[in-house]
Amino acid sequence: LFVVIDGPDGVGKSTQIENVKRQLQGLGYHVTASREPGGTSIGETVRRLVKDNKNLPPWCELHLIQGARIDHINALIIPALQRNEIVLLDRFTPSTLVYQGVVRGIGVDEVASIIHRSSPNIEPDVIFILDAQTPQTGFEFSSGDSFEHQGMPIWRTVRQAYLELATRFGWTVVTADRPKDLVTENLVKLIADRLNFR
Ligand code: C5P
Repeated sequence: LFVVIDGPDGVGKSTQIENVKRQLQGLGYHVTASREPGGTSIGETVRRLVKDNKNLPPWCELHLIQGARIDHINALIIPALQRNEIVLLDRFTPSTLVYQGVVRGIGVDEVASIIHRSSPNIEPDVIFILDAQTPQTGFEFSSGDSFEHQGMPIWRTVRQAYLELATRFGWTVVTADRPKDLVTENLVKLIADRLNFR
């Protein structure tokens, strides 16, 4: 089963990936967790490049991220799925549609087309968007983040884009405005339902 957890910064994606992974392993499943950009040495190199160069032209950023994704899918995601593991990803194509497509202005259709034409033929079984009214307390727009200088207004644009595209692409919105344990419980239940359904 190929599961993606995506959403704006500061909604608890990495924490949920860790907790959901631990619970699924407790239920006896084999789980491979990874992130984008990242997951392979090419992916982690691109992650550093994109984080360290805030003013990359949008198309350069898009192609770096999509190039890293192709490697990630071939080197890590497909092999794990072939071993019948659950793949849990922290960010995937929704981030690219939102950040490069909407925020950086390339356009959603344009980005969707590039992703569609260049990705190996594999789709997530389910995409969860963690949604919160505001970033979690303790979250800061750190200097490592691409859009930190614009802070909250950009964060709201990002959230809105996730919600609109969730309707358009059929992503499952999961509320993250509640205790972490309850969010984990909800995600594990939704994933277990999918596993039983197959
Ligand atoms: O959540 P994570 O630490 O993985 O994200 C790193 C940063 O990279 C995020 O702040 C996000 O703004 C940015 N990003 C991006 N385009 C993507 C994915 C992430 O600009 N496709």
